[in-house]
Amino acid sequence: MRAMKTHTLPKYIHPKRFCEDAVDLSGDFPISQFERLKGLLSDDEGRVVVHLAFRKNKQHIPYVEGNLQVQWHLICQRCSGKLPHATEISLLLSPIDDEKYIERLPEDYEPLIVEDDKILLSAVIEEELLLAMPLVPKHETEECMQVLRQFNDGSSTTIKKGV
Ligand SMILES: [Zn+2]
Repeated sequence: MRAMKTHTLPKYIHPKRFCEDAVDLSGDFPISQFERLKGLLSDDEGRVVVHLAFRKNKQHIPYVEGNLQVQWHLICQRCSGKLPHATEISLLLSPIDDEKYIERLPEDYEPLIVEDDKILLSAVIEEELLLAMPLVPKHETEECMQVLRQFNDGSSTTIKKGV
């Protein structure tokens, strides 16, 4: 099998063709380019490193196995402060043309609906990041401003708001 390596990520991917050709893709995206995701984060700093391997299984079903590593600034749900966090996401996607084929996929494959034989790579990545985002991220207690405030209130010292 011929493996095509590339170090820059294409704007569009052609999953079925890439699976035929056993393509490997690696590269990264700045968080700042993900419009929907940005709004849910403390700021848009950070990058996501992407590794994708397009293959076919023994039943000739195309699949994309991948790994995303992201450093992002979440919002602490206790103090609303910036919460730097590293998340690693494993992907196992299978490209299909239509939702009606979902039930034919092996159970551990997540369907990737691809119309017109191509799909915007950043949209696939953003969707996975949104799904993987921790629901209620919180600082460790010793780092959390809200916990520090309560602690200070409890010991009857004062702390200025916003400090
Ligand atoms: Zn906090």
